Amino acid sequence: MAKIQMTTPLVEMDGDEMTRIIWKLIKDELLTPFVDLKTEYYDLGLPYRDETRDQVTIDAANAANKYGVAVKCATITPNDARVKEYDLHEMYKSPNGTIRAIMDGTVFRAPIIVKGITPHVSNWEKPITLARHAYGDVYKNTEIKVPGAGKAELVFTGEDGKEIRKTIFDFKGPGVIQGMHNIDKSITSFARSCFNYALSVKQDLWFASKDTISKIYDADFRDIFQNVYDTEFKEKFEAAGITYFYTLIDDAVARVMKSKGGFIWACKNYDGDVMSDMMASAFGSLAMMTSVLVSPDGKYEYEAAHGTVMRHYYKHLKGEETSTNSVATIFAWSGALRKRGELDGLKDLQEFADKLEKATLDTIEAGEMTKDLALITTIENPTVLNTENFIKAIRKRLEA
Ligand code: NAP
Ligand code: MG
Repeated sequence: MAKIQMTTPLVEMDGDEMTRIIWKLIKDELLTPFVDLKTEYYDLGLPYRDETRDQVTIDAANAANKYGVAVKCATITPNDARVKEYDLHEMYKSPNGTIRAIMDGTVFRAPIIVKGITPHVSNWEKPITLARHAYGDVYKNTEIKVPGAGKAELVFTGEDGKEIRKTIFDFKGPGVIQGMHNIDKSITSFARSCFNYALSVKQDLWFASKDTISKIYDADFRDIFQNVYDTEFKEKFEAAGITYFYTLIDDAVARVMKSKGGFIWACKNYDGDVMSDMMASAFGSLAMMTSVLVSPDGKYEYEAAHGTVMRHYYKHLKGEETSTNSVATIFAWSGALRKRGELDGLKDLQEFADKLEKATLDTIEAGEMTKDLALITTIENPTVLNTENFIKAIRKRLEA
C-alpha cells in the first residue's frame, strides 16, 4: 500500500524520559508504516536544550509560528534536582512557558472519552474542553503583610504624572493586602484564541467571571470578550451554528456539573488552575488528557497534558517492565496530523488521524489497556499490556 503523502512539514518537538521512549514507539509502529512523515525535527530533550543553552526551544517555537502546526513530547522543567542530575549550565525555564510566550497562545485541555472509563459526573457524555488564561492576576501579584494600624491605598501614576488614587482600607490593626493586574492586550489575545478554537472544533464557548463583585477588574475581561465577539466573530459563530455564552463563574460551575459536556469553557487564570485539576480527575485520568496551545492567529501546538512520567522511566532504565499509557501522546500526533491535513487539503491524512484515534479507542474498548486504565475501568477482566505491547495492539487494529 502506498504511504500517505504530506505537503507541509509538521514541527516535531521531541522530549524527555518515558515520553521520549513512547514518542519513538509511536513513530515506528503507528506513523511511519502508514504515512510518509514530513517533519521538521527539534530535540527538546534536556541534554540538547542544555547543549544549545535553550536556543532549540526558541527555534522550535518560531518554527511552530512559521508552519502553523506542531506536535510536542512532554519535557522536563528543570528544578534544583534536575540541574544536578543533568549537570546543567542553567536552570532553564519551562519549555511550555517559552513556547507559549513566543506563540502568545492559550492552552486548551480536553479529556479523551472512551467506553469503560466513566467520568465521575455521570451526565458528562461529551468532553468539556478547558481553556486557561495564562497571564497575570494572582500569579503576578504584589503582597504586603500589614503590620498594624494604617491606611492602604491603590495608586496609579500615569506617564503624564497624573494620579489615580483610591483607599483600599483603613486598617485598625494587622492584616494583609494584595495588588494584582492584567493587560488588555493579553486578555484580547486570550479571547481571540478561544473564539478561533471554538470555530475550529465547532463547539459553543463559555466564559465566566465575577463581574458582580469585581465591577471594574472582572468587568474588563467580560467587556473585552464581548467586544472581540461582536466585532470579529459574531457572524462566523452564527454561520457555524455555535454560540458564545457569558455568565457568572458560580453559575458556570453549577451549569457545568449539570451539563452533558461538548463545549469549551474559557477560564480566568485562577479559575482555570483550579478547574483543570477538577476536570482531569473527574474525567478519570491525567493520562487521557490532551492539550493544545492555540495562538490568537490560529497556530496550533498539540501535546499530552501529563509530564515525562519519570517514575516509569527509572523502572525502564533498571530493565523493569512498564505499563505507561501512550493515548494522550498518540492523540497529540493525530490532532496535529489532522490539522495539517485540514490546512493542506489532504483528505487521506485527515482520515488517517481518525483511524488512528479509532484504533486506539477500539483497543481499550476491547479490554486491552495499560495498568492505569485497568485500575479504573468498568470493563471486566481487562488485559494489562506493557508500554510497547499496548502500542503494538493498536497497530494490529490500524493495519486491519
Ligand atoms: P507526570 O509525568 O505527569 O507523572 C506523574 C504520575 O502520574 C506518574 O508517576 C504516574 O503515576 C501518572 N501518570 C502520568 N502520566 C501517565 C501515563 N501516560 N501513563 C501512566 N501513568 C501516568 O508528572 P511527574 O512525574 O511529576 O513529572 C515528571 C516531569 O514531567 C517533571 O520533570 C516535570 O517538569 C515534567 N512535566 C512536563 C509537562 C509537559 O511537558 N507538558 C507537564 C507536567 C510535568 P504512577 O507513578 O502512580 O504510575
Ligand atoms: Mg493546578
